[in-house]
Amino acid sequence: MQTFYCLTFLHSLGQNMNLLNSGIHDALFFAEMWNSIDNKGVWQGEIWNRRKNGNIFPEWLTISAVKGADDTITHYVGTMMDITARKAIEQHVHHLAHYDALTDLPNRTLLIDRLHQAIAQARREHSLLALLYLDLDKFKPVNDSFGHDVGDLLLKEVANRLEACVKRETDTVSRLGGDEFVILLSQLDRQSAAGLVAENILTSLSQPFVIQQHILDISSSVGIAIYPDDGLDANTLMKNADHAMYQAKCAGRGCFRFFRPEATR
Ligand code: GH3
Ligand code: MG
Repeated sequence: MQTFYCLTFLHSLGQNMNLLNSGIHDALFFAEMWNSIDNKGVWQGEIWNRRKNGNIFPEWLTISAVKGADDTITHYVGTMMDITARKAIEQHVHHLAHYDALTDLPNRTLLIDRLHQAIAQARREHSLLALLYLDLDKFKPVNDSFGHDVGDLLLKEVANRLEACVKRETDTVSRLGGDEFVILLSQLDRQSAAGLVAENILTSLSQPFVIQQHILDISSSVGIAIYPDDGLDANTLMKNADHAMYQAKCAGRGCFRFFRPEATR
């Protein structure tokens, strides 16, 4: 919906614009806005406004200064467009691009983004971070025996349990796809802390899952790569954590392995 109206006050008289009273924008925001109008004759951008019922909503606002014959500003004209629907679509698209549709966990794109940030922080603070690469053991037979829907519900339950094992806000539990999950643990003080988290995860996922009256027992394999020892960049850490996960599979599954460079040869 688009609403046009005239703002009939004069800013130079110092009157407040009570049309924009969401309380979200501070004085600096309005000062910069009026500065732009005074200098360029126009300002446009997103603002938060308040409806009569008190709800806050986003608007696209354009304010232009109108001058009289003597070149002085006589009044301001504002055009407002309610962009609630557009914002909601933008947020939905952003969510689709960054979260896994099945589990609603961060997807690979968001994980890699957070990994880049965590590496930059670890470099600055000389701290460690860990990537835990997890693949469920013999997940295909679950699909084959009980159907894809049961497999999907199991993946969702696995996601819930993983999130319960990782409580710090700075950590990320993500799903890459299939039965592969990656957990990013940032700001670690020591490598062994990653091993403890891996042990907790393996214990949690080894408890039976009850899905549509079926009792499912699964295990999982986890590979761990540590920054900076096992890689200085996101690609190398992901590759080495994946490799360590295969080392865990080769060791008989149901266990975790730290990355060992010699085992790649
Ligand atoms: P391994 O012990 O070696 O890990 O073997 P696995 O049976 O777990 O199979 P693998 O990890 O190689 O492959 C994962 C399987 O997960 C492949 C595919 O059949 C299934 N899968 C992939 N995406 C989905 C999904 O979204 N939902 C369900 N239900 N199954 C999926
Ligand atoms: Mg698997």
